[in-house]
Amino acid sequence: MHDKNIIPHLAVVLVGDNPASKIYVRNKRKFFLKNNCHADIFTFESNVSENKIIEFIKELNFNNKFHGVLIQLPLPKHINSQNLVNNIDPQKDVDGFHPENLGKLFLGYPKFIPCTPYGIIKLLDYYNIETEGKHAVVVGRSNIVGKPIGSLLSQSFKKGNSTVTVCHSKTNSIREHTLKADILIAATGVANLITPDMVNENVNIIDVGINRIEDNSDRGYHITGDVDFEGCFNKVNSITPVPGGVGPMTIMMLLMNIVQAANNANK
Ligand code: NDP
Repeated sequence: MHDKNIIPHLAVVLVGDNPASKIYVRNKRKFFLKNNCHADIFTFESNVSENKIIEFIKELNFNNKFHGVLIQLPLPKHINSQNLVNNIDPQKDVDGFHPENLGKLFLGYPKFIPCTPYGIIKLLDYYNIETEGKHAVVVGRSNIVGKPIGSLLSQSFKKGNSTVTVCHSKTNSIREHTLKADILIAATGVANLITPDMVNENVNIIDVGINRIEDNSDRGYHITGDVDFEGCFNKVNSITPVPGGVGPMTIMMLLMNIVQAANNANK
């Protein structure tokens, strides 16, 4: 239960002027405000040094005003994102990317679950998609999506107990694996990688991908997932849309994590 006297407060570190990141950060802030939480955005020029940001993160760690610290990804090439994350106080690591928090997750007692995998678990739960004894195929093995969701689904949790296959760019014949999936999670950043001939009729597909495709619209681009949604929609048991689906769940789980961090800080 959340104590109404505490207003959860997030510090977001934004480096450079990646247009998508700026939109994400703005949306997070709006969403937080709508839900009676606060989010301050701290912006750095793209040529800022890694050390300068690390020093700033350390200040945020000691600042009691903030219950959570988030580094907006991606970062400019000269900055190692893991070095930054390693310097966040694990108690304020609401993204769940710190080695201590990922270690706890892999050991089976998660504290902060990374928001996207967390959102996927909630989706599976909400739609009563059975995971126990099922074959889950995860395409993508990043530290922030593929690895943690693969681990969560394979562990003996309520939404777990699956047999998990993890595919990546060096997997031979991904189709051989995806065809056998009861649950298919696509998290590659490759638009329309998963086509209808790669899936069976009973599969439940979770499309994590967010790909910006240039077009002739007024906006100049549209967003698509890693799965050919139109092609798969009529064939499969269920599929999450992009935009929609996992994206909104991710931001909702960030809110859950910041509330948890604020409660922990005030215990
Ligand atoms: P990364 O780039 O860190 O990882 C991509 C993974 O996909 C890697 O493991 C890579 O393999 C694998 N991969 C790339 N190409 C192929 C291919 N052709 N066949 C099989 N595997 C491939 O990405 P993230 O995990 O950070 O993100 C993945 C996607 O999800 C992106 O589109 C991102 O924007 C989106 N995303 C969406 C979120 C949301 O809230 N909805 C949140 C986070 C990410 P290898 O390891 O061999 O290189």
